[in-house]
Amino acid sequence: MFLLFLEYKSLLNIHRILYIPSGIYSIRCIICNNEYVGQSGRDIQIRYKEHINQIRNCNPQSAYANHILQNRHEFGSAETTLRLLKQCNKGGRMNCWEYKYIQEFQRAGRLITEQQTYDFNPLLAITPNTKDAADRTSHTSTVQQQPH
Ligand SMILES: [Zn+2]
Repeated sequence: MFLLFLEYKSLLNIHRILYIPSGIYSIRCIICNNEYVGQSGRDIQIRYKEHINQIRNCNPQSAYANHILQNRHEFGSAETTLRLLKQCNKGGRMNCWEYKYIQEFQRAGRLITEQQTYDFNPLLAITPNTKDAADRTSHTSTVQQQPH
């Protein structure tokens, strides 16, 4: 009985460690260190594998796969290049978060060029929540916040 309880507890812990939720994620290119920002309503690890398969099959459907193939850059392992930026469920809110992170990464000079947009929305620069994720890094970004 005691053993069963222990096993149940460790299963719960394993699940907690292995479970990767849905949400906004980034994948880094290990050559230029710029990142792709995407959203997934499923486990982001599954989405990561889809990007990698597109690269392996030379069938770039995503901006990330396109970036790696066009520039002859390289992808790394999920452990070193995949990050969950914001956990959320699929829907309108997820689209907003994705858009906001894309803009923050672009402003910080860390977005792959294949994904850059030119319709910057200054309203999204007001909330500072995503700034840390875009700024995090070993990589020195000289891009400053624009005055509001
Ligand atoms: Zn690159």
